[in-house]
Amino acid sequence: MSNQFMASRGYDFRSNLGKGIYGNVVSAFSTHLGKRVAIKVVDKLKVKSAYLKKFLPREMEIIRSLNHPNIVKTIEIFESCTSKVYVVMELCVKGNLLKHINDNGPFPEHSGCRLFTQLCEAVQYLHDSDVAHRDLKCENLLLDKHDNLKVCDFGFSKRLTYADGQVVLSKTYCGTSSYVAPEILRSVAYNPKVSDVWSMGVVLYMMLYASLPYDHTNIRRMVRVQTQHNINFPNTPSVSSEAKELIRSILHPDIERRITISRILQSSWMLRRIEDSEASTSNAGSEQEGHPDEKAKKHESLSKDSSDPGEGPSTAAPRN
Ligand code: ADP
Ligand code: MG
Repeated sequence: MSNQFMASRGYDFRSNLGKGIYGNVVSAFSTHLGKRVAIKVVDKLKVKSAYLKKFLPREMEIIRSLNHPNIVKTIEIFESCTSKVYVVMELCVKGNLLKHINDNGPFPEHSGCRLFTQLCEAVQYLHDSDVAHRDLKCENLLLDKHDNLKVCDFGFSKRLTYADGQVVLSKTYCGTSSYVAPEILRSVAYNPKVSDVWSMGVVLYMMLYASLPYDHTNIRRMVRVQTQHNINFPNTPSVSSEAKELIRSILHPDIERRITISRILQSSWMLRRIEDSEASTSNAGSEQEGHPDEKAKKHESLSKDSSDPGEGPSTAAPRN
């Protein structure tokens, strides 16, 4: 039935891509666009009323408004008379990051750094647009055919509001326990921008070690370990001290001392990787590659990041 309805809208079902809590994601061929797309199908009759009333309308409003190369593009949204919502998106053929890590193991540092930079840029754009994602994790980060990272799943996202120039803190528990910041697990009202940064630290750890930084089978114990700023770095794979130092500064339990995205982009690990890739490009000696432009772009993005006033603990809302 839903395949027939999709066909009537110009989308021929191809395969299942993923099954989430609130719906299925399928791939389909768009006869109008002449290419494959991904479609998330949410059955409004089967979801909880809190999701229907609060989170689904937010998700729809937010995904329509976003436009960034590292965020999955929404092509159109429509609804059937049987109360199914169809969200048509660009297709990320290489699937999610968790699957990639499970299939291939940890990322080498240079490709991990490239992907993590893309994640930083996507989240910085979201935060600058006053949107917090609140469910950043490897399952919600996708790879396109060029191995570019794209953030998806805005089911827990929220548009931030301000009171007296300060971000209004969130109280709703959102996210997935292994990626969630300790302040959320402790049920403290939290600045969702700052808590997104914590989740990015768990993602970076996953990228480089192919394992989670904390044992989440006992949440109370996990929060205790997180609060002690105790992070276990396995000996294998071998990861540079700069990368470990960056992970430690992201997974900081003190929200005032947790690093900001602007500063992550200027950390020695990030800068060293950029320098390395520039050195290898210039070693190749190709005048035709257009690398001066690329270099300019990287520097432009860095200076943009460093001038950003609106991100993270140093400038964000009061925290208690
Ligand atoms: P849920 O809210 O149910 O978690 P998601 O939007 O995260 O739904 O989608 C579930 C899974 O479907 C993702 O983890 C990913 O594997 C796959 N998926 C979602 N969107 C796309 C897309 N645009 N391209 C390819 N796969 C996708
Ligand atoms: Mg998801």
